[in-house]
Amino acid sequence: MDLLTSTAAALKQAALAALNDRRHDLIALSRAIHSDPEIAFQETRAAARLADLLAAAGFAVERGVGGLATAFRAEFGSSGPAIGICAEYDALPELGHGCGHNIIAAAAAGAGLALAALGHRLPGRVVVIGTPAEEGGGGKVILLERGVFHGLDAAMMIHPATRNLVDRGSLASLRVEVTFHGRAVHADAPPGSGISALDAMIQLFAGANALRATMLPTARLHGIIVEGGVTPTMVPGRAVARFSVRATERQYAEALRDRFRRIAEGAALATETELEFTVAPGYENMVPNQAIARAFAANLNALGRTVTPTTGHERMGSTDMGNVSQAIPAIHAYLSIAREGISGHSVAFREAACSPEGDQAALDGAAALAMTTIDLLTNRELFRQMQDEFAAQRAAGRVKGLPEA
Ligand SMILES: [Zn+2]
Ligand SMILES: [Zn+2]
Repeated sequence: MDLLTSTAAALKQAALAALNDRRHDLIALSRAIHSDPEIAFQETRAAARLADLLAAAGFAVERGVGGLATAFRAEFGSSGPAIGICAEYDALPELGHGCGHNIIAAAAAGAGLALAALGHRLPGRVVVIGTPAEEGGGGKVILLERGVFHGLDAAMMIHPATRNLVDRGSLASLRVEVTFHGRAVHADAPPGSGISALDAMIQLFAGANALRATMLPTARLHGIIVEGGVTPTMVPGRAVARFSVRATERQYAEALRDRFRRIAEGAALATETELEFTVAPGYENMVPNQAIARAFAANLNALGRTVTPTTGHERMGSTDMGNVSQAIPAIHAYLSIAREGISGHSVAFREAACSPEGDQAALDGAAALAMTTIDLLTNRELFRQMQDEFAAQRAAGRVKGLPEA
């Protein structure tokens, strides 16, 4: 065994021993968050539980970072490269922790405790970032823009799932709101005196259906009408729809948005309505860093978990971790807590998130995050591979790099 390998192995062993000492605290943390669900931007108690635990372990904790009351940044180590570990802790309205973010929180905190137990032997820095509102609001998007991820060399997180996966992507997702303004008149008014905004909207939907037939099968375009008139005895003067534009690649989603905008412009032109077209900054597609993913997979294997290779036909959602992966090298790994077929955002998944399998995923997630941090901080070759890969993706336009702070 060379010196590097033996150093990493010794550090991992010490981190795992520390994690084992704290296993009951971490399971209690996961269960406490699960039984006290707080929705997006209101995760006051969950954020405090994590920040208090990390502060007690010697982390320098800054609460309310990026102007978000329920965000925090906790750093341990005085110099060297910095590896970020993201904690999510928001619940879903009505459903509680149906996405299992209590496990993400416990795993991130556990990794922090395990690495802090190495004290000055940690060859770099670990930064646990508390990121609110993944389920709506995009906490990470806001924190990125406000510089909270600046200075990090990489970021990682785990999410509960029904399989162990290290490099599944996610869809880029744009939210578009379309409003047509016409002229409302009584339906019996003379022909030509009113302009129906609803007619423009119907043309837009017909155009969107035609566009869908020409899209790549990896893209999605869905819309609903939220306002289409007040009463049938009035020509609708205003119509509003919301659309979701999603694709496996950010650039394709943006190109699709532009084609969709031209359809809306065409509908406005044809009906003599006025168009308002607003795009909310959405979630970008996840570009998993393969160098980190390989190290993470090896650590999951060492913990006795079998990693399923991702195929080209994965079902994917969207996550604000996608934006992080577009800014710095990152992974969003999945750890199994339930049998396949149980979907996220369900009662069954919520139950799994506070089961023995859920507890084990929090502990294994903490272990794999800590072990991979040690790999990245001790193995210069791996660190350089990670950076070179990100630079190549950036040159190809697949990722963007950090936004201007
Ligand atoms: Zn979710
Ligand atoms: Zn989730």
